[in-house]
Amino acid sequence: MEDCIFCKIINREVPGDIVYEDDEIIAFRDIHPCAPVHILVIPKKHISSLIDITEEDEKVIGKIYGVINKIAQKEGILDKGYRVIINCGEDGGQVVKHIHFHLLGGKKMGVKVC
Ligand code: AMP
Ligand code: ZN
Repeated sequence: MEDCIFCKIINREVPGDIVYEDDEIIAFRDIHPCAPVHILVIPKKHISSLIDITEEDEKVIGKIYGVINKIAQKEGILDKGYRVIINCGEDGGQVVKHIHFHLLGGKKMGVKVC
């Protein structure tokens, strides 16, 4: 996707503080962190939102959770725990239209929506 900021990070057209990469997944630090550790984990395939995943995407979406644990361990937040947020669509408050998993940790996370 030409105008997708996250695809541009994947393609090295825009700089990103990349903390993990394999052939299907990339993770980089959020530019406006909400916690001491705030990393965005995304599939390299441009999928707009969780709403848009197809059956063929389910494998990589599942793999992302394993990658999140690996990153959490590397960042030293696995023992105390973390929060994962996926904003989805308009009511979910999604701004960037490339599916992304917010990995948040390094402090006691605040108010829970549910
Ligand atoms: P969301 O509101 O779930 O769509 O989250 C989008 C997130 O992307 C926000 O937390 C932004 O701070 C983050 N973000 C936007 N542009 C960049 C960028 N170039 N590098 C890193 N994070 C970004
Ligand atoms: Zn994209």
